[in-house]
Formats: sequence, C-alpha cells, structure tokens
Amino acid sequence: MRYLIILVFLVFYACDSAQNKVQEPVKREKWAIAIHGGAGNIRPEDFKEGEVELYEKELKAALEIGKRVLSEGGSSLDAVERVVRYLEDCPLFNAGKGAVFTHDGRNELDAAIMDGRDLNAGTIAGVGDIKNPISVARMVMEQSPHVMMVGKGASKFAKEHGAEIVDSSYFYTERRWKSLQKALEKAGKMGTVGCVALDQNGNLAAATSTGGMTNKMYGRVGDVPIIGAGTYANNKTCALSATGHGEYFIRYTVTHDISALMEYKGMSLQKAAEKVINDKLEKVDGRGGVIGVDKNGNIALVMNTTGMFRAFAKASGEEGVSVFR
Ligand code: ASP
Repeated sequence: MRYLIILVFLVFYACDSAQNKVQEPVKREKWAIAIHGGAGNIRPEDFKEGEVELYEKELKAALEIGKRVLSEGGSSLDAVERVVRYLEDCPLFNAGKGAVFTHDGRNELDAAIMDGRDLNAGTIAGVGDIKNPISVARMVMEQSPHVMMVGKGASKFAKEHGAEIVDSSYFYTERRWKSLQKALEKAGKMGTVGCVALDQNGNLAAATSTGGMTNKMYGRVGDVPIIGAGTYANNKTCALSATGHGEYFIRYTVTHDISALMEYKGMSLQKAAEKVINDKLEKVDGRGGVIGVDKNGNIALVMNTTGMFRAFAKASGEEGVSVFR
C-alpha cells in the first residue's frame, strides 16, 4: 500500500512538472509598427499652448499611413518608407522640410533604410537638395551595388534615378524653425524621425531620417545613416530606429548592440533596449532613445531623456501616442 501511494505521488509529480514545462505558445502579432519624431530633455513647459497636440496629431497621421499599408498586406519596407516620407514633409520635425542648420547655416541631411529579410541597406549622408532623403536611401539599396552614398555623388545618383530635387531654400521654415529653436534650445535640438515595422509575412524593416544636430560642423555625419548605429533591421531579432546624440550612438553601435543582445543572449527586445539605452549609454551621458519591434510584434519605446515623440500600433488594436516619459 505504501509503495502504491509513493507511485501515485511520483506519477502525479511527473505529470505536474511536465505540465509546468509546457511553454506558452509565442503570441505573434500579424503586424506591428512604431514611429518616433526625436528624443530630448523636454518638459511640458517648453512648449507653447497647443504645440504638443500638433506633434501628436502629425504622429497619428503618420501612424495611420503605416497602419494602412500593413493591414492591407503591404510590406514593412513600404510602410517605413511612406511613414518617414510623410514626416520628412512635415516642417515640425528635423528631417526633410524643417531640418536643422549646420554651423554655417546649411542643411545637410542623412537617412537610412534597412530590410530585415536579407540585411540589405541603403543610406545617404550630407545631402542638401533631395526632397525625400529616405526614398533615395531606398534607391541606393535597391538600384545600386552600394550601401552608402554621400554629398554630391548621392545627389547625382538621386537625379539620375528620378528623385525629386529641390533648391536648398525648400528646407527653410523660418517661423517654425525659430519657435522650435527657442522652445527646444535647452533641450538638445530634437526632431529626427524614424519608423520600424513588422509585416504580415514576418518581415522587419527600419527607416530613419534627420537633419542631424543643430550647429553641427560642415561635413559631420551622424548615427542615422550608419547601419548598426542609428538604424538596423534583422528578421532574426528586431528592427530599430534611434534618435539622440549621434556620436554616442555610433561609438556604442547602439542598434546592432540591442539586436546582438537578443541574438546571442536571448534577451527580450525591451530588456536589451533598456540595457543599452538606460545602462550603457546612461553611464557615459549619451542621451537619446530608440524604437523597436521584434519578430513577434513586441514593441519597445525606450529613452534616457525626459521625452521622445513616439507612437505605435499593433494588429490586435493596441495603440498609443506619447511625448513625455
Ligand atoms: N541622431 C541624430 C544625429 O546625431 C540627431 C537626433 O536624433 O536628434 O544626427
């Protein structure tokens, strides 16, 4: 009888622990998207009345563009390009129209796009006459044998491939620029734009576009067009777009570091992003943030600044827009 009780107990225990070992099925979103419009040490009092709402309105409009592409079965690459194009055309943000000025009063724009399927990428840097740098970055990726093109060569390539070329005065927005300058002077001159997306085929893509940092030196290139620094996508892990003090994001290869922590250490996107932004960068006073989406549609919006213009949406209906931390 005693043996029977022990046997029953052992069988029960074995079944119970087997059950405990059964892993929850991984929840995968059909599609997911996140966007940013720059990070900085901003406080509500830095904005004029109605200004924050204006940013939120534009972020929502950009989000709708991406949601439509993804919910209709379009590719993550199309989604991130169209969203970033919209934000480049919006003078509120530091990309395309409304880009910040260099020390000598010019606009030198950087942009990058990356396809998580095959790690293909296209980037341009230091251009001053291309209306939508993100689309030319995509042309570099798809229609040239190269990854990165800069300055005059990038402009020549853009012209030859039918991109819209504008006079440098196109980027100038006096009223908005001056008021934004004043409002954000102390806050670190933010406004870079970015988008990451997972599509219904499980493909990830990332895109980032910027005017760089206000008062930057001629010829300075930031993290945005450096693959693995400001922009990265890999179907094995995640898609990421960063914003912040570019020099730190380059030196700490921020977006690739986050992906590598996921790939080699099995960390979640959220944990990996927190490790890099809130620990590694924080320790050296590297300010900024990152948006990411992983291969299952989990989203991370992580910053070590007091704010980052950001928004996200998932096929399940979850979505949000926020500015402050
Ligand atoms: N990361 C950009 C750069 O350094 C600027 C920004 O995101 O605000 O060029």
